[in-house]
Amino acid sequence: MTLRSLKQIIPALETSDGAGVRIKRSIGQQPSVRLDPFLMLDEFGSVDAADYIAGFPSHPHRGFETVTYMIEGHMLHEDHLGNRGNLRNGGVQWMTAGRGIIHSEMPQQEEGVMRGFQLWLNLPAADKMTKAGYQDFQPEQIPEIGFEGGTLKLIAGSVVVDGKPHEGAVSERSTRPLYADIHLDAGGQLSLPVPAGHNGMLYLYEGGASLGDVALKKSAANILGDGDRITITAGSSGARILLIAGKPIGEPVVQYGPFVMNTKEEIEQTLRDYRDGRLTA
Ligand code: FE
Repeated sequence: MTLRSLKQIIPALETSDGAGVRIKRSIGQQPSVRLDPFLMLDEFGSVDAADYIAGFPSHPHRGFETVTYMIEGHMLHEDHLGNRGNLRNGGVQWMTAGRGIIHSEMPQQEEGVMRGFQLWLNLPAADKMTKAGYQDFQPEQIPEIGFEGGTLKLIAGSVVVDGKPHEGAVSERSTRPLYADIHLDAGGQLSLPVPAGHNGMLYLYEGGASLGDVALKKSAANILGDGDRITITAGSSGARILLIAGKPIGEPVVQYGPFVMNTKEEIEQTLRDYRDGRLTA
């Protein structure tokens, strides 16, 4: 057993996306700042409606998956397949853009807190042109695992907590993504296996915590070093942390905005398909 230590810290940068939604972007802030198989991680959170009200009007994607985790707030997803998904407190939306999807994500509230995360998970070349798909998970469909010192919501993948295996809401991806929202009480501790060879990060979004004896930075992708296990310990105010890990794909990534392919030629083809109305055909 080798404990993973902190390898690198990528602080989130404030930026805006969609029609002017304020976000904090860690992974994906530059093309060189990715964590294979993850392309992007955005945190959105505001009490000021001006920061989110414009939403993400109709736009396309191809070549990867988006995972939206709503901590607090209410958004409506609509896409060209006719899916309508209400995303509310604690819910998750898992969208496979595959060969093409056109969707919108619009706030369904005019005031109050809107808070959550969007993660982009790359697809390997063999799956990039797969059929588009969409799944919605209400909060009660996401397994919540209690342990001494806290709880863990398992959005995707499998974990072993106190010797007992658990399966998340989503599995069956070749990159075997692990996505967990960990809540630690004051001084709470959790030790978890994270498969050797998988890339991983911890995103601390509330309170304070450390990995081993090194403090995690808040609103930052705290990148894990090699090993097969992590031990995290909360400070005196407790902590809320996302654990995100997955098997690297190891293929070239060429991104043009909402399209992520392997080569420049494939991006050019994608732009022609979009222009000619064949993106989703
Ligand atoms: Fe989108």
